[in-house]
Amino acid sequence: MLLSGTIVKRASLHNEDIIRQLDIHDNDMVYVEKGGEIIPKITGVNVDNRDMFASPVTFISHCPACGTPLIRIDGEAAWVCPNKYGCPPQIAGRISHFVSRRAMNIDGIGEETVEQLISAGLLKNIADLYDLRFEQVVCLDRFAQKSAQKLIDGIKASAAVPFERVLFALSIPGIGEIGAKKIARTVKSLDNLISMPHDRLMAIEDVGEGLADNIVEYFADENNRAIIARLRAAGLQFEISTETEAASSDKLAGKSIVISGVFAHHSRDEYKAMIEQNGGKNVGSISKKTDFILAGENMGPSKAEKAASLGIPLISEDDFLEMLK
Ligand SMILES: [Zn+2]
Repeated sequence: MLLSGTIVKRASLHNEDIIRQLDIHDNDMVYVEKGGEIIPKITGVNVDNRDMFASPVTFISHCPACGTPLIRIDGEAAWVCPNKYGCPPQIAGRISHFVSRRAMNIDGIGEETVEQLISAGLLKNIADLYDLRFEQVVCLDRFAQKSAQKLIDGIKASAAVPFERVLFALSIPGIGEIGAKKIARTVKSLDNLISMPHDRLMAIEDVGEGLADNIVEYFADENNRAIIARLRAAGLQFEISTETEAASSDKLAGKSIVISGVFAHHSRDEYKAMIEQNGGKNVGSISKKTDFILAGENMGPSKAEKAASLGIPLISEDDFLEMLK
């Protein structure tokens, strides 16, 4: 279906409240709109064309992957499968997140490889990665000597990944990339975080009651404690490095910064990290609230125009690095 210039193949409808509200039946013809011109959305049902024998769409009650009855978290639209440690897509999702570029950044392994290692019985959780041996991997389909060695080396090298990224990699519900950095800088070590009582957790910037609950619950779980013990034995960084501490400051505290263009000295992700380490906030689009734009080469003309019209200063890469010295 062609809709405002792009081909729409599917529109998601995974929210039970919306399914009820639309009173959607099997084989219904639906109206689709693109919200904000990007995400297709089902906005209504053409009742005139409804098959008279069609029954209403009923929301699933059990996890389609593992059959566990679903639960709905208070105040949220989503239903979740509570079988955290036994539900295959959840296990695969957590391992894929752990190895991903922004987390442990392990070379030679992506989502597909994770699935493959799970079905080969070699992975059940993130700690199992550190027990993988070359001989086990090399005999698998799609692996050769070189790729197997790359994977084993990549896993080994991940022991050097800084604590804030390890914390992000653990998949503690509600802890994103930026949150992990803030928490890591405040608590300084995983042991401090584990032993921190609820009220002290809530004193950390951006940690609310729900997140504090999640953290306490995560570390109270025996399964997680066993995984943490194995990761510790594998030599992962459970403390903030002196470099990270030294590189952090309040120089950009409260500042909203947009990154735009191409840079010579550091990658965009590195600049993003620097902004956060120095107390600033990296935002995606320019608005009145933007303090300045970290502008590299070839900044998009529409961004440049918008910045000029709002009077937002452009700071060059070199000036920015000078600022943080
Ligand atoms: Zn499940």
